Amino acid sequence: MTSGIVLTGTVGGKNWEGAFVTRSNTLLEPRRIAIIGGGPAGAFSGLLLKRLALQAGRELEVLIFERKEFGVTGPRSCNMCAGIVSNSLIRQLEAVGVEVLGSVVQREIEAYTLEVRGAAVRLEKPPGARIYTAFRSGGPMGERFGTERSFDHFVLQAAISAGAQHIPQVVRSVRLPSNPQAPVVLEDATGDEHEADAVIGAFGVNSRMVRSFEELGFGYRAPRTATAAQCEIPLSSEEIRTLFGNEVKALALGIPGVSLAAMIPKERHVTVSLIGRDVGQRHLERFLQLPEVRAHFPPGWQVPENYCHCRPRLPITAARNVVADRVLVVGDAHVSRYLKNGLDSAFITASLAAEAIMAGGVGRKNLVHRYARPCRRVFVWDNLCGRALLAVHHLLGREPRIAAAHLRFAALEQQRPGPKPLNAILWGMLTGDESYSVVLRRALSPSLQLRLAWAAIKALCKPGIASQEYGAVSADSQEDNDGH
Ligand SMILES: Cc1cc2nc3c(=O)[nH]c(=O)nc-3n(C[C@H](O)[C@H](O)[C@H](O)COP(=O)(O)OP(=O)(O)OC[C@H]3O[C@@H](n4cnc5c(N)ncnc54)[C@H](O)[C@@H]3O)c2cc1C
Repeated sequence: MTSGIVLTGTVGGKNWEGAFVTRSNTLLEPRRIAIIGGGPAGAFSGLLLKRLALQAGRELEVLIFERKEFGVTGPRSCNMCAGIVSNSLIRQLEAVGVEVLGSVVQREIEAYTLEVRGAAVRLEKPPGARIYTAFRSGGPMGERFGTERSFDHFVLQAAISAGAQHIPQVVRSVRLPSNPQAPVVLEDATGDEHEADAVIGAFGVNSRMVRSFEELGFGYRAPRTATAAQCEIPLSSEEIRTLFGNEVKALALGIPGVSLAAMIPKERHVTVSLIGRDVGQRHLERFLQLPEVRAHFPPGWQVPENYCHCRPRLPITAARNVVADRVLVVGDAHVSRYLKNGLDSAFITASLAAEAIMAGGVGRKNLVHRYARPCRRVFVWDNLCGRALLAVHHLLGREPRIAAAHLRFAALEQQRPGPKPLNAILWGMLTGDESYSVVLRRALSPSLQLRLAWAAIKALCKPGIASQEYGAVSADSQEDNDGH
């Protein structure tokens, strides 16, 4: 990484010219970037860096360190997740020339159903939208899906096809010399050392690398996290088709400690995902025994003795100090949308990072200006709005009569021509297709709030309304929604 430069000047009236061979300014124009982690954030970073370098006609070597074999089944090779690939991610990927392969898609989702105790509303996918479900690894424990079914394998391959180099190793340590022109050194688990002009941390929040980065001394502090309890329930394709269809079921059952609960259909499994402050296997087992949950499974169904399950963490705040000279952190290890669309967030942070590096190099000042601040603008305010919305959603789950009245209100909107504000709010919130701030602004509309408050008051005055069946709108409830 050296380059020749020629300096000229005048000393004492005499011209001089001197040729020096120096190290090129690697802060401004890095030639080799190492990425720790080949999950979505790392793979997207590698893909986009290579694409931009090619467009700019610049030489850039990108090394992606990833030890997991994503094609293998079970939690060890999996970046544990519910596996919903959102409409916005599909579109963003297509915009950079990457089309999600059919082999990765387990199911194409047609609708979301939001359920509270005794009531539910089905929200149809808008025309043209696409939402897929996928497995991050080769599939759940005991399955025999192949490598080509893994979403993470697919994105890592896309980065490799763009020219990134995959090093199938875990990074054990990172050395960051104080001289900004000296290379960063990564030591892998075999003891081999790798030099790079800059390092991108894309290690997520479930890795020991989080602590190593905090100890690097540039001030990085990892995001605070929530826990999730998740499992894959095997069912036959026929059972899934008849009992779940192509619908994600979001359940707001007001379970203490559980902020979000969802059931996501795959080809031969249903992923059950609970997220909360400290949820674990006990929550999952109790959840699977609830009558509202069992109602979705075949009659007489018993929780299997062995099933694939995991307890991953996910970020609920943004990390602090995510950049330094030659270092930046992307994906979950930096920030994600609050309890939603982590894969999209990985793409957004990766694309902002790649653009920042190509536009101004890997010096701290440039990375603060072009990467860290734009990320804050995208996520911080929006996540506050998301927290507020999800807190209300959770509270409503604990007051089933009000929640049921709101869902009936949403069902009635569907029967009428014209705008459907509550449907738009629920769809945006559940799928993440809209930013939380847009959803909150819509939700705060005084006329909608008045109508919802009126529906809630009527529901509270009318005992037994919570047992209304989903989607079945009685003449009585039609009246509830009229004229308010
Ligand atoms: C229960 C749950 C459900 C979710 N559901 C969804 C969903 O349906 N849709 C959605 O969009 N998002 C979902 N998410 C969020 C999504 O999983 C994450 O946001 C996303 O995986 C973040 O990508 P990442 O690359 O930053 O981190 P990760 O996916 O965690 O990837 C990090 C990678 O770094 C590697 N690594 C770590 N340390 C090292 C090291 N030292 N050396 C080499 N490699 C290393 C790991 O092996 C891993 O492959 C969910 C999350 C949870 C917990």
